[in-house]
Amino acid sequence: MKVELSSLPSKIVCVGRNYADHAKELGNEVPQAPLLFLKAPSAIIASGESIVIPQQSDQVEHEGELAVVIGRDCRNIADDEDPFRYVLGFTCLNDVTARDIQKEDGQFARAKSFDTFCPIGPHIETDLDVTDVRVTTTVNGEVRQDSSTSHMVFPVAYLIRYISRQMTLKAGDVIATGTPAGVSKLDTGDVCEVTIDGIGTLTNTVRIREVVDDG
Ligand code: ZN
Repeated sequence: MKVELSSLPSKIVCVGRNYADHAKELGNEVPQAPLLFLKAPSAIIASGESIVIPQQSDQVEHEGELAVVIGRDCRNIADDEDPFRYVLGFTCLNDVTARDIQKEDGQFARAKSFDTFCPIGPHIETDLDVTDVRVTTTVNGEVRQDSSTSHMVFPVAYLIRYISRQMTLKAGDVIATGTPAGVSKLDTGDVCEVTIDGIGTLTNTVRIREVVDDG
C-alpha cells in the first residue's frame, strides 16, 4: 500500500557511516555502534520540489538513503520484540549535505539542515522487506550511488531498536538509514533521483539561492 506523509515529523534521526564503502570514501572508520545525528524537519521537501544550494556552501552533495517512517510511538524496544511492529512504511530520502560546512563545523547540525536539504518521497510503501533492496542515486541520469540495504553495517531492525533505546520514537518520525559510496557534488540545473526497488523514485532539481537574507 502507498501512503503519504501526513505532517512534519518531530525529528529525523539519521545514521552516519552505515555502509563501509561510504565511510571509507570520506576517510572515516566504521563505527562500533550506530552514529546518530538529527536533521531539522524544516528541511523537508517533496518529490518534484527544488534542492536550493545556500550561499554559505561550495560543496553540496547528495546522499541517497532508505528512510523508515514510524507508525506508532515506541521506546526501549525489547530484544524479543519485532521492531517493524512500530513501522508505518518505507520511502526514499536524500540526506543532502553541505560537505564543506560539515568538515568546518566538526558536527552535522548546520551542514545537514539547510532548508530543502531533506527531500522525502515519492510516497510511503507499507509492504516491503527491506533486508535486501537496491538503492540507486543518479544525477542527470548518470548513476552515482548503487548499492543494496544488505550492505548496511547495522541493519534496519537493529537501528530501530537501538534508536528507541536512546530516545522515544514518535509516530511520523523518520529514520534515514545511511548512504552507500558514491556521494558527489550537486550543481544548479542538476536533476537528482533516488530510486529504491519496491518504493519508487524521488526526483529533485537543484538550484542556487539567489539572495542572501541571513548571516
Ligand atoms: Zn546520510
